[in-house]
Amino acid sequence: LFSKKKLGVALVGLGYYSTDLLAPALQLTQFCELKGIVTGSPEKIPQWQRKYGILDSDVYNYENMHKLANNPDIDIVYIVLPNGLHKKFSIVAAEAGKHVWCEKPMAVSVSECEEMISSCKKNKVQLSIGYRMQHEPVTQKIIEWAKTKPFGNISKIYAEAGYRSSGGNASHWKCNPELGGGSMYDMGVYPLNAIRYASGLEPIAVSAISQNTRPASFNVDETMIFDLEFNNGLQAKGKCSFAEHINDLKVDCENGWYRLQPFQSYSGVQGVTSAGERLLPFKGNQQAKQMDDDALAIMNGSNPIVSGEEGLKDIRIVKAIYTSAQRNGQRILI
Ligand code: NDP
Repeated sequence: LFSKKKLGVALVGLGYYSTDLLAPALQLTQFCELKGIVTGSPEKIPQWQRKYGILDSDVYNYENMHKLANNPDIDIVYIVLPNGLHKKFSIVAAEAGKHVWCEKPMAVSVSECEEMISSCKKNKVQLSIGYRMQHEPVTQKIIEWAKTKPFGNISKIYAEAGYRSSGGNASHWKCNPELGGGSMYDMGVYPLNAIRYASGLEPIAVSAISQNTRPASFNVDETMIFDLEFNNGLQAKGKCSFAEHINDLKVDCENGWYRLQPFQSYSGVQGVTSAGERLLPFKGNQQAKQMDDDALAIMNGSNPIVSGEEGLKDIRIVKAIYTSAQRNGQRILI
């Protein structure tokens, strides 16, 4: 189907994640090549060109990015922008006929996610969301256990992810509601996605409380605590925070339990079960595996592991969580 051995990737938005994780990981991939950049910061261009051998003809900004349509070097455009900009630039990429990889959270509303999905369908390109955990082997075992149920039916799931942010930069986009700031969008999708992949089920209702101990720093939720309700009686509790270092997924079953601690770090994801089995960390690079999995899906014309529809499912629940939190924990049907 594809004559190229490696697909050309352009990173859009050269911030922390592109610079520190994705560009280095691209050097470790088998089926991808970092070929292009899209940036609004001209001063970043020379160092990226030098470090990664990027040609002048593969450098774009947000205004001329649509011209990627004429560039055969680039097969995939990876959106690594503030959350509130994911939709706009995913659609620019799809309209340019490029496959779209978009970071989590997919976007900041259900309708934005739906527009992204329909634009990619219309332009016959793949859309994949950067939920790296679903590519990670220890996590994949947990996902498998939702089906095989080695400890019987799952009764409770607890999942929490967060870090202590200094809170000194209220102007950062993660603190700006207009750009998709907030701990629920940033970290909350990890426990939420984990509850969904660890159970293999979709919640029917949510109830949530948000907390903010540093309102001068965070014009958004600093911490969110949410309960998810399922129609088979499973109960799940999630938490995310910009105030605490937390990273834990625990699954209680009829005849035992298992736990990943940490469950969403870049490396060292590992676990233990009530039977004493240890789930040992994956030695490879998570982001390289994710990008190779997604490149292979494009080359083979198969479905990506994390589709736009999967990203949308989380955003629908995230919106219900925010609504519940605004109403002091009122139960919201999904
Ligand atoms: P940064 O703030 O570090 O970088 C974002 C980049 O976007 C900026 O450097 C800038 O790049 C560009 N940009 C364009 N417009 C704006 C704007 N109005 N305000 C700020 N930046 C702008 O963010 P991160 O790299 O941490 O996060 C980017 C995305 O990646 C987010 O969606 C985040 O959720 C996701 N992410 C995912 C992770 C994962 O593990 N899957 C981990 C970390 C982040 P330039 O100067 O080149 O234009």
